[in-house]
Amino acid sequence: MTNNPFRLDGKVALVTGSALGIGASIATALAAAGADVACHGKDDPGEATMDAVRKLGRRAIGMAADLADRAAHTELVRRTTAELGRIDILVNNAGLIRRAPAVEYSDEDWDLLIEVNLTSAFRLSRLAGKQMLEQGSGKIVNIASLLAFQGGILVPAYAASKGGIAQLTKALANEWAAKGINVNAIAPGYIATDNTAALRADEGRSRQILERIPAARWGEPSDIAGAALFLCAEASKYVHGHVLVVDGGWMSR
Ligand code: NAP
Repeated sequence: MTNNPFRLDGKVALVTGSALGIGASIATALAAAGADVACHGKDDPGEATMDAVRKLGRRAIGMAADLADRAAHTELVRRTTAELGRIDILVNNAGLIRRAPAVEYSDEDWDLLIEVNLTSAFRLSRLAGKQMLEQGSGKIVNIASLLAFQGGILVPAYAASKGGIAQLTKALANEWAAKGINVNAIAPGYIATDNTAALRADEGRSRQILERIPAARWGEPSDIAGAALFLCAEASKYVHGHVLVVDGGWMSR
């Protein structure tokens, strides 16, 4: 144990959607800081991420579950607590995007995105929050998006879900800040993952996006990990209800 406010020794984290992309990078960074990690993906329980966590000398479990299935939320928190002993950190990272013009946007896609991107974050926070309230401490980090602030193009359900995530973050922070729980969010900019594969494949859109990023490059999943570690650690103990933009400068432009 050290007095380093960025260490997470003895802590247990559940990171949803940590089989790949941003979630995998966050899970690995938390393990490097000393946390044991419950990994998760929809189909892949996060084998590669578990390997990375174990190589860092930390314990890992992996769970495959579709967050559109509400029973999965209870099971994720139950298994994390049963198998790793407690839950100190919840990172609501799993999410998906579907693109279509608004008049063609299907009810099915709307319902799925709201359920997975927003409702699951609320229900997981409620489940983990109960335990954090009992132990008098906890950290919840929600992964929002620049589309918590902007409307985007052809992504009405995604923008609505991420706007909702930013508001949920503030609502939970207001209730739980005095009870030892920090609830914050990260709004990543344009990061090179499966989520943005279609955008990066569209030469015109890709060029327009790149031209607007002051850092002059797409972000990498690892660009998000440092911000996540800060919000999961003692270092951020007086930070509540904040949506931290990590975007290569996009929002300043
Ligand atoms: P990604 O590489 O596509 O990873 C998404 C993760 O979420 C995967 O592990 C996936 O599991 C999981 N997931 C998707 N649908 C799920 C479902 N129905 N049930 C359970 N898990 C599900 O995307 P990413 O870019 O790392 O995205 C991570 C988060 O960052 C998302 O919330 C996304 O909205 C947000 N974000 C991304 C960007 C960006 O530019 N990439 C920008 C802003 C915000 P499987 O792999 O098993 O399908």
